[in-house]
Amino acid sequence: MFKTIIAAYDGSDHAKKAVEMACDVARRYEATLHIVHTPQVPGETMMVGYSAVPLPPSAEELEKAGEEAIGKAKAIAAEHGVAEPVTHVRPGDPGRTIVEYAKTNEADLIVMGRRGLGNFGAMLVGSVTHKVSQLAECAVLTVK
Ligand code: ATP
Ligand code: MG
Ligand code: MG
Repeated sequence: MFKTIIAAYDGSDHAKKAVEMACDVARRYEATLHIVHTPQVPGETMMVGYSAVPLPPSAEELEKAGEEAIGKAKAIAAEHGVAEPVTHVRPGDPGRTIVEYAKTNEADLIVMGRRGLGNFGAMLVGSVTHKVSQLAECAVLTVK
């Protein structure tokens, strides 16, 4: 049933659980595990007059953040019996990146945390999980 499984990892404990569960499912189904990460660097701001204007992170900053996060995700996967996950790191909008990557790779299942790094506020489900569960063409497993 599941041949291609995607775990979405943002560095949070929620996403760690998602990678762990994705590994378990991938092993049971002998599926290929892909880990997708969109690096997000806390933006610096520049004062223009009285306004703080957000500066886009540099390509180097994004690359460094991306490598660090995907390294952690691979270590989690290795601890859970998946030695060589396919990894995809791409800056941009995380929800769109995950949905498009899932379509391109004909994924059967996307595994994500219910919340992520921005785990505060009134929403029960984070915006990335909300978006992916609405737009994905395959099943989405939300991990608690
Ligand atoms: P919000 O970002 O809306 O303020 P949040 O951070 O709590 O709230 P989400 O960002 O939706 O919630 O995170 C839920 C799950 O989505 C994460 O556990 C992870 O699986 C996935 N996810 C979120 N951001 C990324 C990202 N940048 N790259 C890959 N996966 C992500
Ligand atoms: Mg988030
Ligand atoms: Mg966010």
